[in-house]
Amino acid sequence: MASETTEWTVRRVLDWTIGYLKEHGSESPRLEAEVLLAHACGWPRIKLYTHFEDALSPDVRSRMRELVKRRGAREPVAYLVGYREFFSLKFEVGPGVFIPRPETETLVLESLEALKTCGHQNPRVLDLCTGSGAVGVSIAVNSRSASVICIDQNDAPAAFAAKNAENHSVAERVTVLQGDLFEPLAADATFHVIACNPPYVTTPEIERLDADVKSYEPHAALDGGPDGLDVLRRIMQEASSRLVPGGAILFELSPEQGEPAQQILREAGFTDVSAVKDLFGVVRVIKGRRSA
Ligand code: GLN
Repeated sequence: MASETTEWTVRRVLDWTIGYLKEHGSESPRLEAEVLLAHACGWPRIKLYTHFEDALSPDVRSRMRELVKRRGAREPVAYLVGYREFFSLKFEVGPGVFIPRPETETLVLESLEALKTCGHQNPRVLDLCTGSGAVGVSIAVNSRSASVICIDQNDAPAAFAAKNAENHSVAERVTVLQGDLFEPLAADATFHVIACNPPYVTTPEIERLDADVKSYEPHAALDGGPDGLDVLRRIMQEASSRLVPGGAILFELSPEQGEPAQQILREAGFTDVSAVKDLFGVVRVIKGRRSA
């Protein structure tokens, strides 16, 4: 018979999981253990703290074992629990969909700023390479008057983006289209702001990504070609004709792409071209305006 001390309480399962995840290369083992256990219990994470000494049922323990094993094999936590928080909102994600990253909040903040200064009552926003819809949906939630079109080339992301727009009650202002960049748009569609987190990892760097990313996340959302700027270049070929005069375009990229990417915008005739740092203090976004 299990004595009190050997019972699988919340505390004991967390301690054991933290040790296991640490050994298997997790950088935030405590947070991950808590997120996974809360998911196995069907509880909000906060409830773990008030139930530390509760014994866990065999059902919860077997769900937890499975989750921890998969995390030990580097499957992303977001896929295991089915969501990731971004811009204080919960975004559903799953295999085939790029998991939103905290640094992308900079792209959202800058896009919201560009909307404020565009001087239009009901601005139109385009989110290209939308993935889970994180950028477009966050913009729609935080700019009540904007209407947003989100485009992704693949079905899984397009379906998740539509679901996330619905979950956050902005489906009537967010249209999700599937297709290659501008291709699914009406011929005369123009926008006040275009925001894009394109695939920008260079092809050689793909090989060196962490196992979590490389083995599980869609390479279509990551691989930006030899210098990572292939998609940005393709977008810039059509960007002027898709923006109203004075309209803004914003891209996420990696810090070393800041200079060459700004050059591409200037060569396309864009003005007010500049770079913005992310919450980690490195260049993460570049922006520019179509000349008026
Ligand atoms: N920053 C991403 C990464 O960590 C890359 C994002 C992208 O290519 N859009 O892998």
